[in-house]
Amino acid sequence: MNEALKGKKGLVVGVANDQSIAWGCAKAFHEAGAELAVTYLNEKAEPYVRPLAEQVNAPIIVPLDVTDDEQMEALFEIIGNTWGKLDFLLHAIAFAPKEDLQGRVADCSRQGFLTAMDISCYSFIRLAHLAEPLMKDGGCLLTTTYYGGEKVVEHYGIMGPVKSVLEGTVKYLAAELGVKKIRVNALSPGPIATRAASGIAHFDELLELAKKKSPAHELICTDCVGAYARFLVSDEARLVTGSIAYVDAGFNIMAG
Ligand code: NAD
Repeated sequence: MNEALKGKKGLVVGVANDQSIAWGCAKAFHEAGAELAVTYLNEKAEPYVRPLAEQVNAPIIVPLDVTDDEQMEALFEIIGNTWGKLDFLLHAIAFAPKEDLQGRVADCSRQGFLTAMDISCYSFIRLAHLAEPLMKDGGCLLTTTYYGGEKVVEHYGIMGPVKSVLEGTVKYLAAELGVKKIRVNALSPGPIATRAASGIAHFDELLELAKKKSPAHELICTDCVGAYARFLVSDEARLVTGSIAYVDAGFNIMAG
């Protein structure tokens, strides 16, 4: 048994169901001995998320819509009161209104852009801000990006520029928080058929291309992402910060 996270307390934001990347990570964190706080988006999501959170014996299971400042502050108050510290957090959420996500970037509405940036990127900054005082002995902040933030991926639309900003944010937060031994990294998984992914037009073509073009000719699973996430939040990765960690079967190295 891997006990790399024994005694560590972690927050997992982004479990929607058992297909979620955040769920693959939560299982890996739990198996390595971490104690977890798990959030769910709203009442509609709770019946899907709560049983999963219970499966990993999470002592804290609370709602969090990241656009609700009070809810986010309440979450950190609970974490502070329960644990008095936080060792790591995973931010695995993204959202853009469908009409903006499926249209051209050139046609994106102001509101669609702001919503996508707020939920998919600013929320990571806010989580970092609230986690910092609880990471007294250092810690790790982990988010999830995609190759479409680095290169233009057809149909990824406005989420591409949003992920570019998220990756820039990882680097700036890593630089600012390094002195406190708080590390900041992003996982960059290849395409996985999740609920969020189903909002991207022609996602099946993206899966096909990933399999065809990647050196390993394999699709990524959420457990593979979880294994890397477990390493990144552990002390073994204590000098890994500001990095974009690809879990994409090598897709990103290929041209054309
Ligand atoms: P998912 O649908 O399982 O997870 C998305 C999560 O975002 C859900 O839990 C949802 O509740 C949450 N969310 C949306 N709006 C929210 C809000 N206002 N407040 C709080 N939570 C909110 O899909 P996923 O693919 O596991 O996505 C997780 C992350 O991984 C996203 O950032 C996504 O861009 C990224 N990612 C996904 C893929 C892929 O192919 N699936 C590849 C690379 C990166």
